[in-house]
Amino acid sequence: MSKATGKNSISFGLNRGSFLRGQFLVLVILLSSLFLAACGALPAPAADLSSLTSANNPVRVEDVYPVRPLQGAAVSYKLGLNLDAAGGIAQGQVLQVTLQANNPGELAWSAGNFPHLTFGATSLDLLPVEGSATPLFAAYVPVGVELAAQPYPLEISFTDETGATRLLRRVIEVEKVDFPYQDLTLDGDLAGLADHQADAYDDTQLAGAYQTFSPVRLWQGDWQLPLNVPWALTTAFGEQRTYNGQSDTLYYHEGVDMGPLSRQAGDLVVSPAAGRVVYVGDLEARGLTVALDHGLGVTSYYFHLSQISVEPGQVVAAGDLLGLVGSTGRATGPHLHWEVRVQGTPVDPFAFLGAPLA
Ligand SMILES: [Zn+2]
Repeated sequence: MSKATGKNSISFGLNRGSFLRGQFLVLVILLSSLFLAACGALPAPAADLSSLTSANNPVRVEDVYPVRPLQGAAVSYKLGLNLDAAGGIAQGQVLQVTLQANNPGELAWSAGNFPHLTFGATSLDLLPVEGSATPLFAAYVPVGVELAAQPYPLEISFTDETGATRLLRRVIEVEKVDFPYQDLTLDGDLAGLADHQADAYDDTQLAGAYQTFSPVRLWQGDWQLPLNVPWALTTAFGEQRTYNGQSDTLYYHEGVDMGPLSRQAGDLVVSPAAGRVVYVGDLEARGLTVALDHGLGVTSYYFHLSQISVEPGQVVAAGDLLGLVGSTGRATGPHLHWEVRVQGTPVDPFAFLGAPLA
């Protein structure tokens, strides 16, 4: 359960700011200790949304500020970034980027000439999303578990109303996360699934879903949880995992495992956001699987189901039934593995539950 967000900093001398930060750090350590102690005292805490977002996600701060052009101060743009309180973003999160002009007509665009961003190895267009008086553009950038923790420049170029190209640049620190480690025992028939051959087969089957990019965002606002029954987080996102103590089986957990407290199969799995079914099938490690496309490179996955209730191509709304919780594939008991990928890279699904920028 524990997860620490580290950030390297070097400071010389003691000023009021660093003294206050020191006090804050002590408070955080105290609260963390209390939290860990509480986890130890309660064997199977019922996970609820409020405790998860505060315990597992960094503080989310909507960082929207005007960007003044070099000349003609009447025009400004709003750049939205979901950075944490330290101004960075942790490994495993998704960087949400929005760009909006303050007045209609201040930002020129056309099909084939959208605002464009680069961040690390990611290079993609910001695309128009509906529901705003002035044109609003959005993009979702994966900050993968394996992306090196260091500063990266975020650069956004776009054409203004005069036809001039403008460049917004901001350096964003990717913060290291010490993901926990777990060894899982697989007995009998499941032991044969401990190697990566089953995963490689599954990845081949899901390759089309991973690469899906629809130029329209299909959802609005916050996502909801895919389970509506009491559940516990049995394996967190990003946990390093081995099977039967074999170090060559090491990999990181690409989603979250949600175990119904009933410990029974058959609970309803619902869509957390509007989307479209892009894959339905029976996989080796993942078992009965549903994959959804939500647009702008965001896809989601539901593994180990006992029953599937949707068909490929079907359009779903938030809350629509996808299937039933089960333990098909490599599962030691009934649970839902929920996974979200951005541009094909797994990110923490809970990142979509807290206040999106637009
Ligand atoms: Zn899982």
